[in-house]
Amino acid sequence: MTENSTPTTLATPAQFLAGIGSMRAGKLAKIGLRTAGDLLFCFPRNYEFPAPPSKVDQLREGQSASLVGTIVDAEIVSRTPGKSIFGAVVQNESGAVRIVFFNQSFRAEQITFDRRVMISGEPKLNGLRWEFVHPKVTLLEEDEGIAKPKILPIYPLTEGVKQNEMRRYVSTAIEALCESLTEVLPTDLRDKVTEALRAAEIDLRLPLPDIHHAIRSVHWPADECDLKAARTRFVFQELLVMQLALAMRRRKLTTDLRSTPLPTSAMLDARITNRFPFELTGDQKAAMLAIGRDMGRQFPMNRLLQGDVGSGKTVVAIYAMMLAVGNSHQAVLMAPTEVLARQHFQTLSRMLADSRVRIGLLCGSQGAAERRETLEKTASGEIDLLVGTQSLLYGIEFKSLGLCVIDEQHKFGVRQRVQLRSGGVDPHYLVMSATPIPRSVAMTIFGDVDLTTLREKPPGRGSVNTYLGRDQWRQRWWTFVKKQLDEGRQAFVVAPRVSAQVATGESQTATQEDVDDVASDATTDEDVSSVESVYRDLCNDVLADYQVGLLHGRLSSDEKRAVMEAFADGETDVLVSTTVIEVGIDVPNATVMTILGAQRFGLAQLHQLRGRVSRGTHAGHVCVFTDGEQSPEEFERLKVFEDTSDGFELAEADFRMRGPGDVFGARQSGLPPMRIADVMNDIDVLQVAREIAQATIDEDPELSDPKWQPLKKQLMRRYGKRLDLGDVA
Ligand code: ADP
Ligand code: MG
Repeated sequence: MTENSTPTTLATPAQFLAGIGSMRAGKLAKIGLRTAGDLLFCFPRNYEFPAPPSKVDQLREGQSASLVGTIVDAEIVSRTPGKSIFGAVVQNESGAVRIVFFNQSFRAEQITFDRRVMISGEPKLNGLRWEFVHPKVTLLEEDEGIAKPKILPIYPLTEGVKQNEMRRYVSTAIEALCESLTEVLPTDLRDKVTEALRAAEIDLRLPLPDIHHAIRSVHWPADECDLKAARTRFVFQELLVMQLALAMRRRKLTTDLRSTPLPTSAMLDARITNRFPFELTGDQKAAMLAIGRDMGRQFPMNRLLQGDVGSGKTVVAIYAMMLAVGNSHQAVLMAPTEVLARQHFQTLSRMLADSRVRIGLLCGSQGAAERRETLEKTASGEIDLLVGTQSLLYGIEFKSLGLCVIDEQHKFGVRQRVQLRSGGVDPHYLVMSATPIPRSVAMTIFGDVDLTTLREKPPGRGSVNTYLGRDQWRQRWWTFVKKQLDEGRQAFVVAPRVSAQVATGESQTATQEDVDDVASDATTDEDVSSVESVYRDLCNDVLADYQVGLLHGRLSSDEKRAVMEAFADGETDVLVSTTVIEVGIDVPNATVMTILGAQRFGLAQLHQLRGRVSRGTHAGHVCVFTDGEQSPEEFERLKVFEDTSDGFELAEADFRMRGPGDVFGARQSGLPPMRIADVMNDIDVLQVAREIAQATIDEDPELSDPKWQPLKKQLMRRYGKRLDLGDVA
């Protein structure tokens, strides 16, 4: 069919490959295999590792095995057309087995007396003798000794295409294309990478192979070392291309965008840090140093500050904002909820009480006049620091905005950058997240962001004990809670929903958190524990002697504020709440938390909640109860929560259990899916790829050296549009 036509290329439609044809091609297209190149780069999703040759007395019925031996007897037992039988006996020092083929009399020509063979398949006992029906037979050369059985690729399949057909199609593509493939990884680079991977303690016996060897070996490896080297080569290549693209993008952002430099100085630094009523942790100091360096440049800082709840991110943010103000520019602090915005406003007001810094607040519950005044003062520059809920701050006018801080930004992917420009320049950005991002995600989805981590907790922090509550413990637990209250501590009780009746008319000034809260209520079942009934039950029973407050998203903003203030001031002992308190609320005297209906919360959310009782010097206690029966997965999740107090480990676990999409909005990240790399499992290769990519771009920012051309072409094809690398090409 193709004999006289043009030679096969990567783009040749699959149907023109020998043995495929248009019907099969249609089926292959269903799993995205349209061209010869698609088949060639259809990496096996797994491999079959045939058992090493065994001895006859090790055979087990139905357990696949292979055996090396010599043919001592071979004959066509029956020649009846359609019912022919060919049988032979394979013998070695451990015994003899029989092999049988039906309707394959041609076998008699290969399997002849005295030949050395390896057979593999599933043995069956026939009387006293082991028998293999239709085994795989490999003819061995005389001197070949004990041959290793071959590793077989396992491909993704589609209806109507069998595994052995898939193997044949891919092999056809390999034969047609392998020799003409262009190498994208220059030899010296491959050597360097091999060394780096070995230094990272990746068990790589063979060096990374060139493309021709690698493509053959990734499909049909000679042995496990060969497979490891070939697979690692492709994993590395895929990750390198991504990391080069991200490094180019980081670089492009620094050359395309302009910001006002807001440098620090010894005096400014001292003036700011002197205001903090405590010694900064080493991590906080390091973060401030990095931020000072970033903000002194004339392109925007783009830094993600991550730290577990209570690690002291706010102080770092205040430092950055004071740098802006100290340089006579404005700063804005965006919070995801009104409660949190108000709390930040208070913290700032307290810390800057005797300074000349003017602070403004913008949130949903304010009256129109108040709001207009704030907007005017922001535009005229009378306000230096503006705090508000995120949704209200877009598109407003600043006199000269130098810095934008976004708090608790764990719900957005990297592509959704806020657009806040002022006077033709971009502000510096500092994004804070309490959902620790696994290293793999930080290097990929957030790959064009600089990352600072606060791992160290401020000293004197109480630890948190977490218990997975059993129903029969409820009494004991409440007794414990009351004991803590009697010692002067305070307690949270968290339940998933408000009451069963869904409110209809929402007030005009509903903030985002109200909307979220109500939206999640829309699915309320009759039997769901609701904060309102929990509140009533507790007030009437175990907590009858205590002051109990109730907080949820349906309250008006004024009501909410009053409830929060009463709790913060110690007027109420217990706060019954929905997850409105999830984010950032700071009441150091609260040390006990009861979470009801815990199976409804995600791990990240539970960890955030737990963070609310580790703010003071007293040890915190969290007990999670589920309502009704929990599924095994729910139990596993809560068990992980009980056992793991480190937010990073928890994030990794969450990531593993739920996939990155759910946790970090990976699907919105705009990065294409990986074909062979798995960022969780190939994290060490990812690290090496990132370092090499950065070094390469530092040396040759546009990859203009001819040796990079094939790699660059691949990069642009895969990431050019997505990461907006247009002008680099
Ligand atoms: P988060 O990282 O959760 O936003 P915060 O910035 O709110 O944490 O800090 C938690 C608490 O720890 C606050 O009460 C803050 O004043 C306090 N804090 C922050 N840094 C330190 C420090 N270096 N030493 C002592 N307390 C600190
Ligand atoms: Mg915070």
